Amino acid sequence: MQWSFPVARISGIQVRIHLTFILFLGWIGFRDGMEGGWMSALSGVTFILLIFTCILLHEFGHAMAARRYGIRTPDITLMPIGGLARLERIPEKPGQEIVVAIGGPLVSALLALVFGVLSGFVLPPLDDAIQSWSMLWSKLFAINVGLLFFNLLPVFPMDGGRVFRALLAMTMSYQKSTRVAAAVGQGFAVLLGLGGLYLSAPMLVFVAVFVFLGAGNEAAQVDLKEASRGLRVRDAMLTLFTRLPTDATLADAVDLLLHASQHTFPLVDEGGHCVGLLTRNRLIEGLNLAGPMGMALEYARTDLPPVGPTQLLSHACRVMQEHQSPALPVLDEDGRLLGVFTQENLSELLMMDGVGTGRFGGWLRRLLRR
Ligand SMILES: [Zn+2]
Repeated sequence: MQWSFPVARISGIQVRIHLTFILFLGWIGFRDGMEGGWMSALSGVTFILLIFTCILLHEFGHAMAARRYGIRTPDITLMPIGGLARLERIPEKPGQEIVVAIGGPLVSALLALVFGVLSGFVLPPLDDAIQSWSMLWSKLFAINVGLLFFNLLPVFPMDGGRVFRALLAMTMSYQKSTRVAAAVGQGFAVLLGLGGLYLSAPMLVFVAVFVFLGAGNEAAQVDLKEASRGLRVRDAMLTLFTRLPTDATLADAVDLLLHASQHTFPLVDEGGHCVGLLTRNRLIEGLNLAGPMGMALEYARTDLPPVGPTQLLSHACRVMQEHQSPALPVLDEDGRLLGVFTQENLSELLMMDGVGTGRFGGWLRRLLRR
């Protein structure tokens, strides 16, 4: 995730902290410090760090559950609105998804039990030392109970929503169950956001926005996966496009950008080999650093693995996502450029798939497959 920094590596998982989390801690320290001096600032920040340790353990619950199915978790990022474990993939088998989804809440439940015992909520306190810490334990108990129930709300893509999707997927298709779960999740997110506005709780509004966008995003990804099932790169690549010579300047690219609908320009040598891909972001970056006379090749992306025309579309999507690129060059076996595969191609494909369910669907899909 952008603007996040690695802080530790635990059991092969990179723990990262988002910049907004550091600002949040600074704000808590400043606020408490203004009220009650530096001791108060210190205890405020320590308390927040304790809460986020509980959240981190919750995320590790998901990661460890996913590991059972051979799914890696490259990183976990902490943000002011909570933690995010980035799993390599979400298991499509409902049983597995349920286990991964409840791995986190299970940890929160265990933590609640431990703090409940310590604070005397669950069992009477063992001795005076524990009693004097009682306030802290009871706060942490309440927070973990809160985390447990909040995450179990059937709001996709939160944990409870994932369980809901998995339960639906036992009786209907994965795509349909995702759509239903995402719609319910977005409905809840709107209510949550309105609740946050009513209570003037900005954090709740942020969570609502995050959930709303997350649900839409995941549903779109599942739709895309379904639409591209069985299709190859050649079925959706761009074949009519403008190439730039290797000695082109950024001004040449700007000229094309303004006069054509193309946003990504492959740089091709005299033999027809692709040596790089100038994306719109790189073009803007180059213009800022070197001006219009800068060399296009210097700012082109040369790190992108090419894809072949017969490779599966799903593979190309994954490569594009992994390299965070809006496009990929499509090359033949000799490295000559055949086409460009872009994100716009994918959205057009989705549109065709929407049409494809109608009267002329079969014909359109066959045309697309040719
Ligand atoms: Zn969770």
